[in-house]
Amino acid sequence: IVQEAIMEIEDNFTGYSLDKFCIPKHYEEDLDHVLIPYGLIQDRIERLARDIVQEFGNKPIVALCVLKGGYKFFSDLLDKIQLLNRNSTESIPICIDFIRLKSYEDDQSTGQIKVIGGDNLNNLSGKNVLIVEDIIDTGGTMKKLLQLLEAYKPKSIRVASLLVKRTSRSNGVKADYAGFEIPDRFVVGYALDFNEYFRDLSHICVINDKGQKKYAS
Ligand code: 5GP
Repeated sequence: IVQEAIMEIEDNFTGYSLDKFCIPKHYEEDLDHVLIPYGLIQDRIERLARDIVQEFGNKPIVALCVLKGGYKFFSDLLDKIQLLNRNSTESIPICIDFIRLKSYEDDQSTGQIKVIGGDNLNNLSGKNVLIVEDIIDTGGTMKKLLQLLEAYKPKSIRVASLLVKRTSRSNGVKADYAGFEIPDRFVVGYALDFNEYFRDLSHICVINDKGQKKYAS
């Protein structure tokens, strides 16, 4: 398929100051700036939903949510696809599944990932699978996930990632549907975490040093 143009956020973009937005009190001092406001996230997802509907037409898909970071994007993307489904002459039947990935920490050299939770992956055989992920950084996780899923012989695999980091560490794995290309900084919010914190923040923000120290593991 033709990859849709991604929306680029330039390296020199300094974002929006926190005092222009509503930030939970408990995170006010831990963030540097708002990178992508919640409303813009929603607008961009609306367009990704349209692109997906245009590609798939009437073909059924299995939407596979990669937990935990992908849950908000997954939920909002599916809401928007369903809205289109209700209001169009064509509609995509959607099944959903959830997986959580765990890397083998004690043996990094094998670069293996383990899937925990979700249905039996054998259910993906012969299906059009849409992986829904929060962020592609180096691409390592996505590469391994794709390899793992291919073993179950799905009919097709597409990747939707809300964020893609612009980094020289990239292994070249790309998303078929990508929301924003962002600078190489650590972002939190909209279900993306730092040691499990900041998932309860609606905007995508850049964490500051104080936040990194406060929530260090
Ligand atoms: P990759 O394997 O592509 O290098 O990294 C993928 C995973 O690293 C993501 O699924 C995410 O969990 C984590 N990650 C990478 N960059 C960020 C970031 O800027 N913020 C957060 N919260 N997680 C990140």
